[in-house]
Amino acid sequence: MSRSDYDVAILGGGLAGLSLAVRLAEPRFRHLRILIVEPRTQYRRDKTWCYWRLGPHPFEAAVTQRWTRWLVTGPGGRIERSASGMPYECIPADEFYELALARIAGAPNIEMWQGIEAAPIEDCEGVCLGLPGGKRARLAFDSRRPPKLGQHGLAQRFVGREVEVSRPIFDPGCATLMDLEPAREGVHFTYVLPTSRTRALVEDTWFAPPDAMLPCHSDALAEWLHARRAGDCRVLFEEAGCLPMDPHFQPARGRRLVPLGAAAGAHRPATGYAFGTIQTQCDSIRDDVERALAEGRMPPAGRRPAIVRGMDRALLTLLTHRPAMAPRLFPALFAHCPAHRLVRFLADRPNAGDLAAVIFATARGLCQATSEEPATSDVGNPSARLPALFHRLFSRRALLHGSVVEPETAVEQIQQGVHCVSEAQLMRARNNAEKSPYPE
Ligand SMILES: Cc1cc2nc3c(=O)[nH]c(=O)nc-3n(C[C@H](O)[C@H](O)[C@H](O)COP(=O)(O)OP(=O)(O)OC[C@H]3O[C@@H](n4cnc5c(N)ncnc54)[C@H](O)[C@@H]3O)c2cc1C
Repeated sequence: MSRSDYDVAILGGGLAGLSLAVRLAEPRFRHLRILIVEPRTQYRRDKTWCYWRLGPHPFEAAVTQRWTRWLVTGPGGRIERSASGMPYECIPADEFYELALARIAGAPNIEMWQGIEAAPIEDCEGVCLGLPGGKRARLAFDSRRPPKLGQHGLAQRFVGREVEVSRPIFDPGCATLMDLEPAREGVHFTYVLPTSRTRALVEDTWFAPPDAMLPCHSDALAEWLHARRAGDCRVLFEEAGCLPMDPHFQPARGRRLVPLGAAAGAHRPATGYAFGTIQTQCDSIRDDVERALAEGRMPPAGRRPAIVRGMDRALLTLLTHRPAMAPRLFPALFAHCPAHRLVRFLADRPNAGDLAAVIFATARGLCQATSEEPATSDVGNPSARLPALFHRLFSRRALLHGSVVEPETAVEQIQQGVHCVSEAQLMRARNNAEKSPYPE
């Protein structure tokens, strides 16, 4: 058997690499020799991570803001929601790095190499890390390569600026997840994270093909602030991203060279959220690492359930072919789905009831959006027929049953196979039955 210099190597000291390292810095892992490899020589704030808090995690001391209310607004309505015990939290990357690096520095068995790149190769006895001195590890977690942007499909493209403005225009108790107005051609919205009446991170975001020419983010941000009479504006920080929204991404994995973080598919294709999923992933690696070292292979990581992948795929296909529906669809989804159920779905931890509730709310949102959307000539495309399908399903059920129920009851009934609609839905369905723009 060949000599190994380390038991565990963590390749990439970003969100996922440091999240895992902090867990392995616990005293019970002191007998393990651990190496982190990171090309950066200095850490700075390069991102702002937000997520819904569904349980404890090791970085709570780095949380700088917590919102108990969130807002989605567009021509489809102004929907403000909250879910008790599930705040939306914010961790600026510099706070995260500082806390993580301090915890790691306290673990004498963890070495960190900065300013160097790994190029690992797995062989039958472990992983050769591609570092000076031919270092080897028994097990390596690799977060170096996030999924590539594909030529097809959508990417989440955004520029965010933390601004200090002269007029008190923000509500520090409420995060705006999507301000979909003014409606533009394509899926476009402004995301606002206020920290005081005069200070907020404001992001201009598009779901658009990676190579699409987009209007200037700076102009859009300036317009948004101007429309709210923000007054003078000072930019304190800027971040930007282009996250692939690829529902088909499948990470390659070996027995001992195991992908981690975004490289392991942690980014939720439909939303770009990864923080919570990365924490769950690192918890499960911590629980399995001793067994993996003993057996010489890491047990396969759990994939997102097929139904969630299918729902993301359907939504993204719909947004690709019918972007004009977004300003009505998203407010309707937030309006019709119970907040705690939607939060668990968005945070990648849905149960069966949550999935049913989201499907039901999406279907209602689609009915609402299709009834207000102009006809298109794209009906030959299967995904373009999706709204029509929901439309027909709900129209017929509405006309057959004509029942009136609350969303929670509807969810239970959907789970039992009994479909139903609300009174407003019934009215719309009746009105639309005669004037559907889609072929039957
Ligand atoms: C601007 C921005 C804002 C975001 N905001 C949110 C948010 O609010 N909520 C949310 O849930 N998600 C958010 N995300 C998405 C996601 O959380 C992040 O992309 C997250 O950083 C992914 O973590 P990671 O560890 O997989 O990748 P990274 O954090 O990118 O880490 C990868 C690491 O690998 C290192 N590396 C590269 N090459 C090598 C090499 N050859 N050898 C060794 N190391 C290497 C890199 O230097 C880097 O440190 C955001 C993303 C961006 C870009």
